[in-house]
Amino acid sequence: MAIGVKNLENSSYIFEKQRLESFKNWPFKKNTSCNSEKMAEAGFYCIGGDEAACFVCGKELDGWEEEDNPWVEHKKHAPQCQFVKINKKEDNLTVKEFHLIVETFLKNQQEKIHKDKMMQFHRVTDTIRENIEKNFHPSTAL
Ligand SMILES: [Zn+2]
Repeated sequence: MAIGVKNLENSSYIFEKQRLESFKNWPFKKNTSCNSEKMAEAGFYCIGGDEAACFVCGKELDGWEEEDNPWVEHKKHAPQCQFVKINKKEDNLTVKEFHLIVETFLKNQQEKIHKDKMMQFHRVTDTIRENIEKNFHPSTAL
């Protein structure tokens, strides 16, 4: 099979362990409710500074405070997220639930790639249109 767990492991934050590693410079201490372990457990990985994103829904949140509860914040800002809906830490997930999360992750990733490609496409067509309009002089067009 082309996509083994190993490949997914290298290319994403599907696993809590890798999400945790991204929080090396997280500003909150172990004894706070917003520590790296709890952030990773709630589906977040660090994207720099005090900014974190969910690996499933892609929601980016910054301005975290040490008394924040990552699960509560996740649910508040992205109630539609599959990870939030299942609402379990990785160790407690059933195979079926884990499968559903990975499936949603892949689907969201594909949608994002598609969206980026469409935006790129529109930028190109906009430039072409601008050039045509700029160079089109009705008096010389016959
Ligand atoms: Zn999410």
